[in-house]
Amino acid sequence: MSDIALPTASTATALAIALSALAMTAIVALRYLVSSGAFALATRLRHPGLYRGRGAQMRREIGWSLASTAIYGLPAGIVAWGWQAHGWTRIYGDIDARPLWYLPVSLLLYLLLHDSFFYWTHRLLHRPRWFRLAHAVHHESRPPTAWAAMSFHPIEAVTGAIVVPALVFLIPIHVAVLGLVLAIMTVMGIGNHMGWEMFPRALVHGPAGRWLITATHHQRHHAAYRGNYGLYFRFWDKACGTDIGLGDLPPSRLGPRA
Ligand SMILES: [Zn+2]
Ligand SMILES: [Zn+2]
Repeated sequence: MSDIALPTASTATALAIALSALAMTAIVALRYLVSSGAFALATRLRHPGLYRGRGAQMRREIGWSLASTAIYGLPAGIVAWGWQAHGWTRIYGDIDARPLWYLPVSLLLYLLLHDSFFYWTHRLLHRPRWFRLAHAVHHESRPPTAWAAMSFHPIEAVTGAIVVPALVFLIPIHVAVLGLVLAIMTVMGIGNHMGWEMFPRALVHGPAGRWLITATHHQRHHAAYRGNYGLYFRFWDKACGTDIGLGDLPPSRLGPRA
């Protein structure tokens, strides 16, 4: 007779959740390293010397960002496990399950709700107490680099990590649209911090730029320490009088003229 205890159902569940969280942490970390690395490389090619002398800053940004990946990985791992094991969440895979018009609508809904949550938590993080406690870490990057996209104190990382995992319980979304939401989140998170504009000037300085946030807008947030609190859209900043306009990137770092 062996007296090795077989795992109970609850230990097997805990193990499955831990493995899922670990896998999601690895995916988020890889996504961060590959995408920030690609944009850092693009910066080196397009604007040689822009990050020169900022090795210590970039190492610090990478350290905080990698710590944040575990905080993002935990809720994402729990939700991914629940989705697979119990059909939790309102993520759907059958494209015919809802009308096609719902695909862009759900994309916009996710971006608008994430933007609203970000705006208000970001404003809160700029209250002196919360700034000293948490948000100062993100603002230590002055100006930030492509590696600063996830450079957050753990408290701030929690506020960013819970949004999408909470939304998938509330608003139905096709799995491919969810992938698109995460891709936009990644590209804009990096693009807004890399110190140069990847979008054409006609977009940034035209009618669309009056409502969309790109590097020129967020650069000003980092320079001024207040105002321009939004993530994707300028709606809340304009509605609340906190929009301080576009930053003054040198002409060589503005986007293509086309
Ligand atoms: Zn801030
Ligand atoms: Zn920032």
